[in-house]
Amino acid sequence: MTGETGAVPRVPVPAGALPVGPPPADPPPADPSPVDRDAARDAVLRWYGEVARDLPWRRTEDPYAILVSEVMLQQTQVSRVQPRFEAWIDTWPTVEALAAADRREVLAAWVGLGYNSRAVRLQEACRVVARDGWPGTAAGLRTLPGIGPYTAAAVASFAWGERVAAVDTNVVRIAQRLGLGTPQELLPDDERAATWNQAAMELGATVCRARVADCPACPASAWCRSAHRVVVPPRAARGTRTRFEDTDRFVRGRVVAALARDEALPEGIAPERLERAIDGLVRDGLLLRTDDGPALAGSPPG
Ligand code: SF4
Repeated sequence: MTGETGAVPRVPVPAGALPVGPPPADPPPADPSPVDRDAARDAVLRWYGEVARDLPWRRTEDPYAILVSEVMLQQTQVSRVQPRFEAWIDTWPTVEALAAADRREVLAAWVGLGYNSRAVRLQEACRVVARDGWPGTAAGLRTLPGIGPYTAAAVASFAWGERVAAVDTNVVRIAQRLGLGTPQELLPDDERAATWNQAAMELGATVCRARVADCPACPASAWCRSAHRVVVPPRAARGTRTRFEDTDRFVRGRVVAALARDEALPEGIAPERLERAIDGLVRDGLLLRTDDGPALAGSPPG
């Protein structure tokens, strides 16, 4: 096994995106053997049973707690999410509590987790659930604000046992490299489906990673069509990559963090860059322009 277990955040697959990760050296057979598929799946499930960590969101079937964890995990490492998740659930233990919370407090609690608009969408989704109840299926969850196919499938699978594949970039890569079927075809046709979703994500996050496939340590290597043959393209040259500090997202995060702490706007940022970030935050409903300058938006009426 390589790397910190679960260090890679869950990243939903954008609509229409191509599978992530390099293809195997040769294309897999068009019609993979169901026997191989079953054997590989059993081996991965056994492996997961041995390595699965005791994480707070894995101990619950509460759809609210699972939803919070999934949204937090979208861009942030497991080790950083865990204490933030526990603090969040302590503060807002139910969907009704988060629905009624002041948006400024919600944004302040989200600082450092990235993409502040996710916190706003999460609260909006909880407001709908507090009013109408949980939809009860992945399809129903997708009608909620900010809930995409991956998050809907993960919540429906882990909370309600719905047999639906939770397909993040790790799972796409695993299916592509195994060459034993699509993520949906790899899903067990029984009560192990939710565990499989966890196991496939874990395998992709820790063993079969985008840039390092640790085939000698992989429980599925005996059946994998790409075992020991994964070709990883070279990284982009350093000079062509944009530093996070140079992005608008960095400035937006600093603005929200400062206002959440009741501090002045951050210094040392070019005025036009700062203004562009504030404009974007106002457009997204995270900030209001007041006579005293920008301020975090409070809870909307309703
Ligand atoms: S054998 Fe290698 S390529 Fe295949 S799933 Fe395992 S780590 Fe990935």
